Amino acid sequence: MAAERLVVIGGDAAGMSAASQARRLKGPEELEIVAFERSGFTSYSACGIPYWVGGDVPERDDLIARTPEEHQERGIDLRMRTEVTELDVAGRRVRSRDLASGAEEWTSYDKLVIATGARPVRPALPGIESPGVHGVHTIDDGRALLDSLAAAGRRRAVVVGGGYIGIEMAEALLGRGFEVTLLTRGAQPMHSLDPDMGDRLTGAMERSGIRVVTGAEVTEVLTGDSGRVRAVAAGSTEYAADVVVLGLGVTPGTDLARAAGLPLGASGGLLTDTSMRVRGHADIWAGGDCVEVLDLVSGRHRFIALGTHANKHGQIIGSNVAGGYGTFPGVVGTAVTKVCETEVARTGLTERQANEEGLQYVTATVESTNTAGYYPGAALMTVKMLAERRTGRLLGVQIVGGAGAAKRIDVAAVALTARMTVEQMTALDLAYAPPFSPVWDPVLVAARKAVSKVRAAG
Ligand SMILES: Cc1cc2nc3c(=O)[nH]c(=O)nc-3n(C[C@H](O)[C@H](O)[C@H](O)COP(=O)(O)OP(=O)(O)OC[C@H]3O[C@@H](n4cnc5c(N)ncnc54)[C@H](O)[C@@H]3O)c2cc1C
Repeated sequence: MAAERLVVIGGDAAGMSAASQARRLKGPEELEIVAFERSGFTSYSACGIPYWVGGDVPERDDLIARTPEEHQERGIDLRMRTEVTELDVAGRRVRSRDLASGAEEWTSYDKLVIATGARPVRPALPGIESPGVHGVHTIDDGRALLDSLAAAGRRRAVVVGGGYIGIEMAEALLGRGFEVTLLTRGAQPMHSLDPDMGDRLTGAMERSGIRVVTGAEVTEVLTGDSGRVRAVAAGSTEYAADVVVLGLGVTPGTDLARAAGLPLGASGGLLTDTSMRVRGHADIWAGGDCVEVLDLVSGRHRFIALGTHANKHGQIIGSNVAGGYGTFPGVVGTAVTKVCETEVARTGLTERQANEEGLQYVTATVESTNTAGYYPGAALMTVKMLAERRTGRLLGVQIVGGAGAAKRIDVAAVALTARMTVEQMTALDLAYAPPFSPVWDPVLVAARKAVSKVRAAG
C-alpha cells in the first residue's frame, strides 16, 4: 500500500502530463495514482483533429501519444469511461461512475489534480442537434464528422465560427473537396487580430476558395425531409449546407469545481497560484483548459484554452505534487494557426486590448517577404507591431503571411516576456540566409519602424 494517493480528474493533456511527471518522480510504493477519464481516449492531440479530418494525418491513432495500457504499464491506475460526478473537498474524496455499468463509488485522495478541460459552446438554437451538425472537440467528434462527410449527399459545408478552430476546419473541408462557407458574427475571422490584419486573413481565405461571411449571427439550423441538415439560417439569409461544423469557442469545464465551492475567476476558470495550486486549498492543483492564466502583458487573469499551456501546467503540477518545485509564471498570449497557404500568428496585446488597458501606443506595420525577395517561392508577409508610447516597450505583434511567417512570432513572444523595448529588439541577432528571410528580417524592420514612431510620438 502506497504512502499517499493522488487522484487526477481528466485524462488528457494536463491530467496525464501531471500523472506521468508525478510517476517519474515517485514510484508506486510512495504514491498511488488513480486517474479518471470519461471518454474512450487518453493523451491525444485535439490540436491534430483538423488535420486528420482534412486528410493530412492519415490515421486516428496518429493523434494518440499514449494509450491507456501504456499508462497502466507505467503504474498509473487509469480508469477509462469513468466520470467523476462529485467532488467532496471536506471529505477529500471523489465520486465516480463507470459509464458502461453505471456503478458508482467514492475514492479518497491525499492530493487531487483537476484537469477537466473546457466545454465547447453549443448554443440552444433550433435544429442544432440535427444529423450533419458537428462539433470538433474530441476524437469521437472527428470520427463522427468524417462519417458525416462520407454520407453527405452534396458537398456544401458551412463552418460556424471564425476562431482558429473554425478557420482550420474550413481548410480541412476544402481539402475534402467541399465548397466551404465560413460564417462569423464578428467583422472578421480571428477576433484575436486587429481589423486591418483580420482583413488580410479574410482576403487570403477568399483567394483560397473559402467564402467568408462576416456579421452573420446564426439563428437556426434547417433540416430536410430526412431530418438531416440542409441549411443554416442567419436571420433571413439561408446558407445551403450538407454538413455544418461548429467552432464557437469553449468555456472552462468547471462544473465539478463550482459545485464543490472552489474559487473561480471572472471567466469561470479555476484560480490557482503560480505553482498551479488552487487558491486556498493546499492539496488541490488544477491546470489546462479549466483554469485562468496570468497575462503577463496586461497583468490580468484570462481564460486562454491552449494545449501548449495545458502540457506545461501538467508537468509543473506533477513535479509539485511529487514534492518537487515548479511554477508557471504566466503567458503573453501567443497563438499560431494557418489556413491553406496563409499563416497567422499573434502575441501580446491588440489595439483593442491595449485601449482597454488604458495604454497609449504606436503601431508599425511592414510588408515584406518570408525569404529574400529574389529567392524562388518568396511569399508576402505582414508584421504589425504595437509599442508603448514614450517607453517604447513592446506590447504586441501580429503576423499574416506565407510559409515560415508565423513562427517568427516566437521572437516577439521572447521579447515580450523579457519586457524588451522595440529599440532593444532592433539589435537582436536574428538568423539570415536568402531561403529563410530578407537580410533584414521583417520583425526587425517592424521594430525599426516602431522606434521611429515612438520617437515621433514623444
Ligand atoms: C480542434 C482543436 C484544435 C486545437 N488546436 C490547438 C493548437 O493548434 N494549439 C494549441 O495550443 N491548442 C489547440 N487546441 C486546444 C487544446 O487541445 C487544449 O487546450 C488541450 O487539449 C487542453 O488540455 P486539457 O487537458 O486541459 O483538456 P482536455 O484536452 O479537454 O482534457 C480534459 C479531459 O477531461 C475529461 N473530463 C472532463 N470532465 C471529466 C469528469 N468529470 N470525469 C472524468 N473525466 C473528465 C475529458 O473527457 C477530457 O478528456 C485545439 C483544440 C481543438 C478542439
